[in-house]
Amino acid sequence: MKNIVTGGAGLIGSHLIDKLINSNEEVICLDNFATGNYANIKHHLSNPNFKFIYHDVTNKPPNINCQRIWHMACPASPTKYQINPIETMKICFIGTYNMLELAFKHNSQFLLASTSEIYGNPKVHPQDEEYEGSVNTSSIRACYEEGKRIAETLCFDFNRKYDLDIRIARIFNTYGPRMDIEDGRVISNFIVQSLRSKAITIYGDGSQTRSFCYVDDMVSGIINLMNSNYQRPINLGHDKEYKILDLADKIRYKINSNVNYKIFELPEGDPLRRNPSIELAKQILNWEPKFGLNEGLDKTIKFFKNNLNRVV
Ligand code: UDP
Repeated sequence: MKNIVTGGAGLIGSHLIDKLINSNEEVICLDNFATGNYANIKHHLSNPNFKFIYHDVTNKPPNINCQRIWHMACPASPTKYQINPIETMKICFIGTYNMLELAFKHNSQFLLASTSEIYGNPKVHPQDEEYEGSVNTSSIRACYEEGKRIAETLCFDFNRKYDLDIRIARIFNTYGPRMDIEDGRVISNFIVQSLRSKAITIYGDGSQTRSFCYVDDMVSGIINLMNSNYQRPINLGHDKEYKILDLADKIRYKINSNVNYKIFELPEGDPLRRNPSIELAKQILNWEPKFGLNEGLDKTIKFFKNNLNRVV
């Protein structure tokens, strides 16, 4: 089968490509390295089943006829997507529109990497797919939250109007080897800071919560979703909720218990609690995460130890 993976040099995209290539599928990776890294895909370059095209999804894509489009391209770390919020919205809206048009042209199956951020600062816990969210349009996070909401809406409209075969993965916090050192998200920050014996940066009082899914589990969920015939949004993530302060303790204990904490103000709009209901994914995709946080962190710490000087 021929696949396009946009954002294929990113964390989830590159692990997805590994699995597709290992299953002898053909993969065309589109990326402009805005947040992805060449090192994440270079091991495939000599494989005749793999092709890389440097491409910014806000431009019209090359006219490639393929069976499946996995649309993963978009900066996902708050620090990255807030650098240029207007560009982030263009990636979400125009980028998704461009790839949907290509899917429509060739009748390709289309999977959107959506996000837990469409729930905003949720008032319902855990968040299930029926929850409509609580997003503030004027928040500094809205470029991504609202951007991904409109990306989902575009998919539903292509589905209603043209019967396009869509899949919507609402991806919750995901981590693992190949995260960028400068990614800015909590797990990579805490690991890198501990390895460098720098103070761990806690935003707010650290009582806010997240749940963390290891990248291999996330990729299995995404593949199961594409292989299903489910055209409604579905949450993918780990359902064990951790306080950020407890995560910091865990990472510090694993690497360097001497590092201190440095407290910063909680960024505007930072959700206080986030935890997915994954009942639907269990039922429909027969999927649930296999890796616990300890095992996933050990693998991720090992990666960072070996790549601390990797160029971003
Ligand atoms: N966070 C933190 N220190 C950091 C990075 C993040 O305390 O160095 C907190 C952040 O405020 C948020 C949580 O960790 O409450 C998860 O942040 P991240 O940027 O990883 O992803 P988010 O879930 O907010 O998109």
